[in-house]
Amino acid sequence: MKKALITGVRGQDGSYLSQLLLAKGYEVYGADRSGDSGLWRLRELGVEGRVKEVYLDILELSNIIDVLERVQPDEIYNFAAQSFVQTSFEQPILTAEINAIGVARLLEAARKVCAEVRFFQSSTAELFGGTGSAPKGEGTDFHPKSPYAVAKLYAHWLTVNYREAYGMHASCGLLFNHESPMRGEEFLTRKISMAAAKIKKGLQEKVLVGNLECRRDWGYAKEYVDAMWRMLQQPAAGDYVLATGETHTVREFVEEAFAAAGLRLRWEGKGLQERGLDAAGRVLVEVSKEFYRPSEVDCLSGDASKARAALDWRPQTRFRDLAALMVEADMKRLEERK
Ligand code: GDP
Repeated sequence: MKKALITGVRGQDGSYLSQLLLAKGYEVYGADRSGDSGLWRLRELGVEGRVKEVYLDILELSNIIDVLERVQPDEIYNFAAQSFVQTSFEQPILTAEINAIGVARLLEAARKVCAEVRFFQSSTAELFGGTGSAPKGEGTDFHPKSPYAVAKLYAHWLTVNYREAYGMHASCGLLFNHESPMRGEEFLTRKISMAAAKIKKGLQEKVLVGNLECRRDWGYAKEYVDAMWRMLQQPAAGDYVLATGETHTVREFVEEAFAAAGLRLRWEGKGLQERGLDAAGRVLVEVSKEFYRPSEVDCLSGDASKARAALDWRPQTRFRDLAALMVEADMKRLEERK
């Protein structure tokens, strides 16, 4: 039985990957900080209690060494991160401690304790930030545009460096936005799916959003964790873009999610004055400066042909279906809460 250690196990990707690896017969060690925030995901996916909980703080080297010595994992998947771009503008140093130096601690501990382990680092499309709207591949230059992305850039190159310098089986997934009902509500898609569901049920009046023109390549997270596992089964480690290749604006996501809740929107006004109204003229969406970022990535589009060819991986869930399944899950949650 293979042993996998997943850091950040209570996040979206950690919980889906736990489910996948348990189904494959792995012994799954789920590492996270103390407290119970996020346990609901493991619960909803039916894997709470089957994941062996391990306390691990990515800020503490001796803690990481202890865990690796005890678990002796065959595979490590690193999702321990401050994962929200906007927060990184408010907490750039903490973000670097976790997202950059945290990965140095983990890699260094792995090199000393279990150098044969297969290691996955969750890199991000945000590394491509300011490189224009053409689809990004593994060879595209990087230009990070947030403290989050700058920290992730260090972690990316350090993972590559441990592969090259020490021959470790260390791989990076260059993950484009991947969403699901397990997404945190601070992210655009989940904020909107929950708002659409609540507005439909009369529990909320309207939702405030930021820049409606940003374009993202949005896929379904459940399918992305499968590609991560495939990466670690390859004879040689490497880096792979994981993306759908299709981009949509924030505005389109809002429209699709509201439509899935049975609310057809029409737009009025421009810029910060723009609003989304329903057929009866009620304002359901407003734009607020609060959700604009000091520097924005206008468009992200990925070319996952390497993953398609080498891993036989292709995303299945289309944009509209993704928005619909997220709204449906939030509707159901609201009904169960009653
Ligand atoms: P990110 O791509 O990792 O930053 O994921 P997010 O889901 O946080 O943001 C996706 C895009 O939606 C970014 O371009 C945001 O600027 C944009 N956006 C517009 N309005 C909002 C909002 O109200 N909340 C969030 N989180 N993002 C928004």
